[in-house]
Amino acid sequence: MTMGTTSPTPALLPLACKKGLITGVANDKSIAYAVAKAIVALGGEIAITYQNDKTARYTQPLAEALGAKLFLKLDVAEPGSLEGVVAQCGDTFGTVDFALHSMAFCNAQDLHGRVIDTTESGFEAAMNVSCHSFLRLAKALEPLMPQGGSLITMSYLGAERVVRNYGVMGIIKAALESAVRYMAYDLGPKGIRVFAVSPGPIMTRAASGIANFNNLIESDAQKAPLGRTVTIDEVGALTAFLCTPGSSGMTGQTIYVDAGAHIVA
Ligand code: NAD
Repeated sequence: MTMGTTSPTPALLPLACKKGLITGVANDKSIAYAVAKAIVALGGEIAITYQNDKTARYTQPLAEALGAKLFLKLDVAEPGSLEGVVAQCGDTFGTVDFALHSMAFCNAQDLHGRVIDTTESGFEAAMNVSCHSFLRLAKALEPLMPQGGSLITMSYLGAERVVRNYGVMGIIKAALESAVRYMAYDLGPKGIRVFAVSPGPIMTRAASGIANFNNLIESDAQKAPLGRTVTIDEVGALTAFLCTPGSSGMTGQTIYVDAGAHIVA
């Protein structure tokens, strides 16, 4: 007798009845888009944000196709924007089980110049959008997570090693990874788990602002044990797993998804 393949009943999917917020979708190349897809495939319900009216054009059809319950404007550099988005999630979802922070910003000259030349305003802007907004997101969401849950941000190897043309962003990703550890410590008693996922280089809109990014992709693929770089779907699958009960014993880590490149000198 042959057995046909059957899809699991929606109620049995690992993220059935779980609700959360996905930030950082700019287009269908965004890491956040792949995370959203993976979470929806596991039964999760999502709210999706877009940064401005320019990106809404690309993001709205994606949000609709994924059946997002909310499609909200979020510019973390605008006072009150993040807190407003979280309040709307509270009104619609009641409680929240997961959130993805997948946003970064840095002036081009601060990526490509010497870090000691970074201006105070450039440093502040990069730190505010790329790191402090994760702390603010957690603070705003905490009351909506009485049953605990997962908060996940995106980091990069430049936090730990000097990567050419990553400049001050490396310093800020290091702060972000440290923030993950302190947040995990503070929020652990509430069952809120906190992670940084560290993907290898992937050509996205943000990455296209980094000089010689194609060379970085090539050299990473050559040194990686798997002999290639990763796809956004591989990052999505790992991130969705971190929202499921399967990862319930983990918190505070930076988890690489880079075909193993970070282990090779
Ligand atoms: P992307 O351009 O698709 O996403 C970046 C997102 O940041 C965009 O959606 C943009 O709207 C958002 N953003 C920037 N400033 C914002 C603000 N003020 N308010 C709200 N949103 C804002 O690029 P991506 O590569 O998917 O980047 C997502 C995350 O992944 C970033 O943190 C990036 O540093 C990280 N990352 C990317 C790579 C890579 O190679 N692409 C590798 C490691 C980590």
